[in-house]
Amino acid sequence: MRAGVLHGAKDLRISRIDIPQPGPGMVLLRVRRVGICGSDMHYFEHGCCGAFVPTRPFVLGHEFTADVVSAGPDTSGPAIGTRVTVNPARACGFCDYCKSGRGNLCRKTIMLGSASTTPPTDGAFAEFVTVRADQCHALPPHMSDGLGAMMEPFAVALHAVKRAGSVAGKRVLVTGGGPIGLLTLITARAFGATPVTLSDVVAGRRETALKLGADAVLDPTAKNLAEQVRELSGDGFDVIFEASGAPPALRQAFDLVRPGGTIVQIGTLGADDVPLPANQLMAREIQFIGSFRYGNVFDEAIRLVETGRVDLEPLVSEVFPLEEFPQAMQRAFAKDDVIKVQIQIH
Ligand SMILES: [Zn+2]
Ligand SMILES: [Zn+2]
Repeated sequence: MRAGVLHGAKDLRISRIDIPQPGPGMVLLRVRRVGICGSDMHYFEHGCCGAFVPTRPFVLGHEFTADVVSAGPDTSGPAIGTRVTVNPARACGFCDYCKSGRGNLCRKTIMLGSASTTPPTDGAFAEFVTVRADQCHALPPHMSDGLGAMMEPFAVALHAVKRAGSVAGKRVLVTGGGPIGLLTLITARAFGATPVTLSDVVAGRRETALKLGADAVLDPTAKNLAEQVRELSGDGFDVIFEASGAPPALRQAFDLVRPGGTIVQIGTLGADDVPLPANQLMAREIQFIGSFRYGNVFDEAIRLVETGRVDLEPLVSEVFPLEEFPQAMQRAFAKDDVIKVQIQIH
């Protein structure tokens, strides 16, 4: 089969590799559409992703729509022919975290298209991929392949908004207007947050946020930022979702959140450790909480899109064939006018 194989930094090749065979409990999927994620871009740019250094060339990709084509021995799951999206994080299912509904914290998780394990696990920028049957979530017939491939990043945003507790009626700020920030904006709004503000240093991204329903946008480097924030939120925002991964954005969040407010960290910070104003956290009783991947939110994510409660169609910017994967990767780095770039495989 054809696959987009990462050999090292900036070295992405369309190669022929063997079709994987589904083992017990696994299914073979024929891939339709795959989205390029920030982590794929990170692997492409640096050859690794933080502490995850691949020990061999591997296939990227974990946001996708596919058809079930066959099943391994002793497998119960979706029927052959079912069109599905996939939770790419395969938790063990047996540990305390998994049993208590926090499988995203499972230490034995195997992530598709990732070097978080050794050897790395091949992902979905390929004609076929195998996953455990229970990672599959059937898609409604009228949902497009492009939207199916948006369920994974949407699940990240949905999980983050749930981590904040109820956002209904709350003044929300999202820092960072990349795909996850925009999805968080859309999700918080759908869950009743008002007003919803997005901040980003890139003007094009602020414009996109307004088009997608932000009530206001902020340039975090603006001289009169404090004044603008006072107008929008009085004493500060009730909830801030930090989706940029930029240390200055996180630091600023502590100044922009109101006493008793909540900061949810979604973005991966480039630096290992970042100095934080712990006295502010203490004296103003700020809640600072993490949000990692997703809990078991995929079916809810599908329902929210299926019923039109959230509209993710405007986020799919461009679609390329697999042969043009390297060009598509380059395109994904454009910040001004591109949100999500996807690859059509079949
Ligand atoms: Zn992703
Ligand atoms: Zn587990």
